Amino acid sequence: MEETQVRFVIPASEAESMAQKANLPSVLHLLPSLVPSAQRLARPPISNFHVGAVGIGGVSGRVFLGVNVEFLNLPLNYSIHAEQFLLTNLSLNAEPSLSHFAVSAAPCGHCRQFYQELRNASSLNVLVADSDPPTAFTPLSHFLPHRFGPENLLSKHLPFLLEPHHNGLSFLTNSQPNGFTTTTNNFDSLRYAALDAANKSHAPYSGCPSGVALIDTDGNIHKGSYAESAAYNPSIGPAQAALVAYIANGGGHGYEKIVAAVLVEMESAIVKQEHAARLLLQTISPKCEFKVFLCVGGTKRPSSI
Ligand SMILES: [Zn+2]
Repeated sequence: MEETQVRFVIPASEAESMAQKANLPSVLHLLPSLVPSAQRLARPPISNFHVGAVGIGGVSGRVFLGVNVEFLNLPLNYSIHAEQFLLTNLSLNAEPSLSHFAVSAAPCGHCRQFYQELRNASSLNVLVADSDPPTAFTPLSHFLPHRFGPENLLSKHLPFLLEPHHNGLSFLTNSQPNGFTTTTNNFDSLRYAALDAANKSHAPYSGCPSGVALIDTDGNIHKGSYAESAAYNPSIGPAQAALVAYIANGGGHGYEKIVAAVLVEMESAIVKQEHAARLLLQTISPKCEFKVFLCVGGTKRPSSI
């Protein structure tokens, strides 16, 4: 497959015709065949270890890609793993579940843990493409028996990762910071995009949802929602999630096109994203204007929608 044809979301009908053209019995068989294409889209300037993950949405049948992303001059824990990218990609596209995914190398422990945020974690099917001989799809519970997950900390009635919900956040009335001089005309769009992302954030453990919206030199807005893990460390920050959107939407090879960013988080947050998000964005795009807007009204019990 030509690299130019590869996109991060493939409509279900197109995936089905791709499988038919390749004489594959189903789209499930297509997933491992797309892994090398996904790997070529990875951005690992530190490890040079390209990881690709390709999954199928449990409701729409769309195919989603994920790649690993590393950032020069930043600590390694700012990195995005391909499996995290994949779930963030589903979230950005309002896909409420994942049924199967193929990945180029065995998922690391960090990702096995992150995937426990899915309601169907134990039965989610995983195929490791670089195994010799190739493995069949195998339940995630095989890779992570004796799991620690959301049920250890929360009611199972709360929305899990990817499940639609709204955090009920709104801006403080005086939340406009001084000195925000973005050269774009889309400032309000950026601010409200970040609020929308914060309202979709999965933060049931800290009760501190947040979202980031970026704007590039073409005027395109890319937004991402903070997503927590029951084990805390595998959580993915809102700036990383917005960068997933930037990459998946066809953002340039570098990040210099990102000219402004807004973070929305709660005034009362005990888990603050401001410093980490500013450091990440201004390291990868030094001219990026970065502002924070505070909001109120969040709850540890977001309502399903
Ligand atoms: Zn991983």
